[in-house]
Amino acid sequence: MIRTGTVTNWAGNVTFTAKEVHRPESAEALRALVAASAKVRALGSGHSFNRIADPGPDGVLVSPAALPVEVDVDTTARTVRVAGGVRYAELARRVHAHGLALPNMASLPHISVAGSVATGTHGSGVANGPLASAVREVELVTADGTTVTIARGDARFDGAVTSLGALGIVTALTLELVPAFRVEQHVFTELPLDGLDFEAVAGSAYSVSLFTDWRDPGFRQVWLKRRADQAPPGFPWGVPAKVALHPVPGMPAQNCTEQLGVPGPWHERLPHFRAEFTPSSGAELQSEYLLPRAHALAALHAVEGIRRAVAPVLQICEVRTVAADAQWLSPSHGRDTVALHFTWVEDTAAVLPAVRRVEEALEPFDPRPHWGKVFTTPAAALRGRYPRLAGFRALARELDPAGKFTNAFVADLLDG
Ligand SMILES: Cc1cc2nc3c(=O)[nH]c(=O)nc-3n(C[C@H](O)[C@H](O)[C@H](O)COP(=O)(O)OP(=O)(O)OC[C@H]3O[C@@H](n4cnc5c(N)ncnc54)[C@H](O)[C@@H]3O)c2cc1C
Repeated sequence: MIRTGTVTNWAGNVTFTAKEVHRPESAEALRALVAASAKVRALGSGHSFNRIADPGPDGVLVSPAALPVEVDVDTTARTVRVAGGVRYAELARRVHAHGLALPNMASLPHISVAGSVATGTHGSGVANGPLASAVREVELVTADGTTVTIARGDARFDGAVTSLGALGIVTALTLELVPAFRVEQHVFTELPLDGLDFEAVAGSAYSVSLFTDWRDPGFRQVWLKRRADQAPPGFPWGVPAKVALHPVPGMPAQNCTEQLGVPGPWHERLPHFRAEFTPSSGAELQSEYLLPRAHALAALHAVEGIRRAVAPVLQICEVRTVAADAQWLSPSHGRDTVALHFTWVEDTAAVLPAVRRVEEALEPFDPRPHWGKVFTTPAAALRGRYPRLAGFRALARELDPAGKFTNAFVADLLDG
């Protein structure tokens, strides 16, 4: 057990207030800890930018990082059973060794699997759902310390994966795999916003990201991740980069996965950042809003309209797409999505006014904030944006009648 006060999230903008932090080394110890505690939350790799993981001063924070690293690949079923605390970098390496792949990855491989799917973490691609859409089965330690497994086909499944940590401690997940594939990463520069055919650009590769710092109305960079086994459709809208680039101005390209069209394995191209380097800028806050893809162009013009308020505290804005999924609390639930992401400077007081301006500008488009990033949207507004919230509330009551896994963040959303 480690006392708190010293435990912060990755960004350092959140110091957890939990009275205790535990790192159980066995499943038995985890179950006993959960059963004996009145208030518990899991901590994954701590890459969220808000208090979603914090149990509060009366609670216990439990990290699964010291539990055995379980990664069991079933090559016949094409699945992997992975312990919740394992990070994507380790998972991807082991899966690839069997000639298999995850369908998609986030911008960084440093994040834990359970923590990522709990918040609806996603990569990009018009046909790629969030990372949670690969999950076939989830195993959790629930309030009384017993283990419950919820698989696809169970009526509760669509509430059980993107669960904000509110149902129990996820000890294992089973994910569907695909045959390993190779990817080429091409970067283009100078894509104007005026005349942008968003659908054509977003659909021009397996995974596409557009980057702008909003100092100008256009995009500084477009990253295309093309599957090497699919015909390259050409990209007439931008200028091919001649050297490798980092999306954040001034940061070294060596932190990024290989570009310039050099083919490589899926797990060394789908993330933007290499596992062995600091991802993104390392000194930052992040926000992200997911809204129907049909509104992409209008939403981009709305942000362009306030760009002078946004640019001074912005390091980079990334625009991605996510295919609709079925998880009740997924920000891409039920709608093909465009995601507008903002990497801010690391000054909360300076950033919050810009966050509010972005939220006002995007309000007409029914935006759902990323659960793991900075937002100020009131819970009352969020409730109206999740049509299956009542189902999730009932599931939380069934698995956790006393609210052992509920913290202020979750209570705010569910109560009311
Ligand atoms: C540099 C950087 C880049 C990022 N890039 C992306 C990106 O490309 N796409 C994207 O969508 N997001 C991105 N994010 C956000 C990130 O993916 C999410 O914050 C994600 O939740 C991080 O996973 P984690 O393990 O750190 O979760 P944590 O922040 O540790 O926890 C998040 C939530 O999951 C719960 N949780 C964690 N582990 C468990 C468990 N075992 N059982 C039950 N609940 C659990 C916690 O209680 C908490 O509610 C990025 C963040 C950073 C810092």
